[in-house]
Amino acid sequence: MGPEGRHAIVIGGGASGVLLAFQLLKTNAPDLRVTLIEKRPEIGRGLAYHAGNPEHLLNVRVTNMSALPDDPDHFWNWLCARPGGPLCPDPYCFVPRQTYGDYLAGLIAPLMSRDGTRGLTILRGECAAVRENPSEVAVTLADGTCITGTTAILATGPDAAAPLLAGHVEPWASPADAGIDTNATVLIMGTGLSMVDYVLSLLRHGHQGQIVAMSRRGLLPRAHRRVNPMRFAEQEIPFGAEIGPLLHWFRRRIALHVAEGGDWRGAIDAIRPFTQRLWHELPLKSRRRFLEHARAWWDVHRHRTAPEVEARIAEALATKRLMVIVGKLATIAPNPGGALVRYRRRGQNETSELQVGAIIDCTGIVRDPGASTNPAVRSLLDQGLARIDPLRIGIDVTPDCAIVNRDGSPSRRLYAVGPLTRAAFWEIIAVPDIRQQCAELAGRLGNHSP
Ligand SMILES: Cc1cc2nc3c(=O)[nH]c(=O)nc-3n(C[C@H](O)[C@H](O)[C@H](O)COP(=O)(O)OP(=O)(O)OC[C@H]3O[C@@H](n4cnc5c(N)ncnc54)[C@H](O)[C@@H]3O)c2cc1C
Repeated sequence: MGPEGRHAIVIGGGASGVLLAFQLLKTNAPDLRVTLIEKRPEIGRGLAYHAGNPEHLLNVRVTNMSALPDDPDHFWNWLCARPGGPLCPDPYCFVPRQTYGDYLAGLIAPLMSRDGTRGLTILRGECAAVRENPSEVAVTLADGTCITGTTAILATGPDAAAPLLAGHVEPWASPADAGIDTNATVLIMGTGLSMVDYVLSLLRHGHQGQIVAMSRRGLLPRAHRRVNPMRFAEQEIPFGAEIGPLLHWFRRRIALHVAEGGDWRGAIDAIRPFTQRLWHELPLKSRRRFLEHARAWWDVHRHRTAPEVEARIAEALATKRLMVIVGKLATIAPNPGGALVRYRRRGQNETSELQVGAIIDCTGIVRDPGASTNPAVRSLLDQGLARIDPLRIGIDVTPDCAIVNRDGSPSRRLYAVGPLTRAAFWEIIAVPDIRQQCAELAGRLGNHSP
């Protein structure tokens, strides 16, 4: 420990960065101060909890969205105490995601440092480089500011990859900001939760043109229901099995549960406490097969929408405002009206054509981190301080979240949390998993010097 105490630098002030900063300061290690670096104007919102559209609801019930794993009612109590009331009758419903962003921002506001020696300091700007030497880490911002610390933790969220499609619109850009003509045909690539968000945004924006969503399987997210919980006994789960037998077992268990009057959602929720261990013990070849063949099925059952959002999408489909194409994009030829898209319907060889005014990329966030354009991630990869995992879905980290370098050695000073660590944890996208990961890492960092 240095004479001035320990200094943890958290890079990224979205949900993961805020949860970690909070937990670090909650450890009450008197010699620990935290700096949070965020390039966006607001802290705590990141990709998911932006203030743009109040119709974008949480995809997880209030009761599961507490920031603190050891205080499950924390978010609900916060909602009840807010001036406008809790926004919903009980903790089993879904409130706007922007409200959750308010909650996260409020969580760390009281921790702000008064003199820069204790508590939390927020630095606005983009982290451009991270370096490590035996006694410290050095973090440089795009404006040249350089700070040093004892540890640096990457909480930069899903990788920002180079655009998949020339001229496409990012799913978080509002239709108005993206200048989408309200009468144009809009093609949304992907049929998952981000597609659902964008359809709601287009409808809110008064979109009149046809909305087309395309994906290889055309699977739409299922919705939540209030169901009776079920439980798995740890010893009945075939940990370490290949993916084929594992899925066979799981499907049979779901069928059994349904035959007994249960709901499949109960079984999906019941397996959640074990998914990280299942992933960890799944042979590499099986992990790859899961990603290729079963991930789409898993995603639509596991990452569900609020029932009210499901109703809006069902209505858009029934009135043909929204059309789903099960197929694969072949080519995009830009033209003055937007682009001429050629695609192949599933099971067909010949291509079909569609003239569209705009293309929105909602194909998901699992992308090859090797293509990351995030300078903080790039900096670590380029120096060999980080390496990509064999499945190319994240950077390699230990179960303790330490970043593994090119030679396979875990760092004592560099860590990562959140979606960037999905190669090791897989289920590390939603708050219930991230909050646990952050609490555990903070406990370790708060109690030990590197
Ligand atoms: C549309 C959407 C809806 C979701 N809804 C839910 C939900 O209802 N419930 C749930 O539990 N989960 C939900 N999720 C999952 C969600 O990913 C996590 O809850 C959470 O957003 C992950 O937070 P994060 O901080 O890791 O990543 P992000 O939200 O991406 O935040 C990363 C932050 O780091 C900053 N950053 C990145 N690089 C740098 C850099 N180099 N320098 C400085 N700053 C940087 C970014 O500006 C950003 O603010 C949703 C996800 C999405 C995309």
